[in-house]
Amino acid sequence: MRSVLLVFYCFCLFSFNVSVAQVKWEKCGYDIVRSAMMVKNPDFEQRLEAQLNARQKMLAAKTTKTTVNINIPVVFHFILNQQQLHQVGDSSGIAQRIITQMQVLNEDYNRGNGDSSKIPGAFKSLYGNPNIKFGLAHTDPNGNSTDGWEIKTTTLQGFDVFANSGSAAKYDSSGGTNAWDVSSYLNIWVINMLEGTVQSGVIGLTVPPSFTDSSIYSNANPKVEMGVLIRYDAFGRRTNSSEYFYPGIDLGRTTTHEIGHYFNLFHPWGDDDDDDICRCPWPRFLNGSWQTGHDDGIADTPPEGCRHYGGYTFPVYDSCSPSYPGLLFMDYMEYVDDSSMSMFTNDQAYVMDNDISIGYTHSLISHPQLLDYPGTTNPNSDNIYSLYPNPAILGRTSVNFNLLPEGFESISVYNSFGQHIMDINTSNQLTTYYPIDLSGQKKGMYFVKLHFANRTDVRKLVVL
Ligand SMILES: [Zn+2]
Repeated sequence: MRSVLLVFYCFCLFSFNVSVAQVKWEKCGYDIVRSAMMVKNPDFEQRLEAQLNARQKMLAAKTTKTTVNINIPVVFHFILNQQQLHQVGDSSGIAQRIITQMQVLNEDYNRGNGDSSKIPGAFKSLYGNPNIKFGLAHTDPNGNSTDGWEIKTTTLQGFDVFANSGSAAKYDSSGGTNAWDVSSYLNIWVINMLEGTVQSGVIGLTVPPSFTDSSIYSNANPKVEMGVLIRYDAFGRRTNSSEYFYPGIDLGRTTTHEIGHYFNLFHPWGDDDDDDICRCPWPRFLNGSWQTGHDDGIADTPPEGCRHYGGYTFPVYDSCSPSYPGLLFMDYMEYVDDSSMSMFTNDQAYVMDNDISIGYTHSLISHPQLLDYPGTTNPNSDNIYSLYPNPAILGRTSVNFNLLPEGFESISVYNSFGQHIMDINTSNQLTTYYPIDLSGQKKGMYFVKLHFANRTDVRKLVVL
């Protein structure tokens, strides 16, 4: 036995780098949230381990993946000071970043990202489709019309994400903004992030719904704190070279990554490298003792010891995946730059799909009416309708009336520059359903005018 151990020990020292020296950057605040939970819940590690074991069993027994075709209502809460607002282009720049961010989410969560062509052949078969769609909320919790975002101008420099996981951003009383009903809306706060009073390197932080479950954790986070924080200059996708973005982070992938945490995904290296020791998810002799690292509970992500930053070229190896094809550094749950990441795996997609089908996030797909503006400007009219889906899917949307409309004459569509795009004659059609096809048009904001005999309604439509 001793000789076997000795041989194994020598093999470890000879073959593997025991630790990888790198400047540590807390790019994502998952460790902050997890550490805070560990302090409050002494049995946190065991609970999390039980969750990972259950996940591995579920993946081992997985059958056909269900699909989710209903958009999740998203609301963005911007809380920025004048200088930060100006850096991102003020209200028009923010609208532009919101549109590009929604495009990125709907691409990345539906296998629609153009840079999937960069996925190496050896990993192509792992390219998963979560099939989750996101839409801007257009009815707020009071039933009023909303564009799906709110901007609060503050005199604060930002919010300390190391204090209570940045919760101050989530309450009016501490200079933030209260969440909208967390069971109906995915709340995303776009803020500046501080460590104490100095600038933090964190660019995203998520409190997943599972961390607010008091039936699992005796000191869970308050439910109203579930949601995502994104640093303001890591939000949206660059459309021209002069725009202000965090270096290397300009393709909207921080939000893709953080929403992965919201759906209960973990970092592929298992979040056990805080002391800069790269642990594989099996026993190894490291720094004088036998140690076992954590896994992400995802069967098809290769084992990985430590986080990776910056840009990478395939293949990349570490001591846990030392042979071809090596590490899946292009996974959205990695720490690499936006341009280096391009995929979720099939099993990550399955876990997220399972969460939204029967898990914590299921309630988000139970309120599709929140995706549309409130039905009509005249609640006494019989002409109650919805514009759905909005954003349009592949350029297609429709006007749906509850009853046959009266005096409905036509639909006209204009682009954001006020240019006329199309007319649809709707008079005397004896139908409640009026499709609108903008599939040949550019992505962006459009205005749909509905002409009635006694009024004209205008609705904003986003084409993604
Ligand atoms: Zn993360």
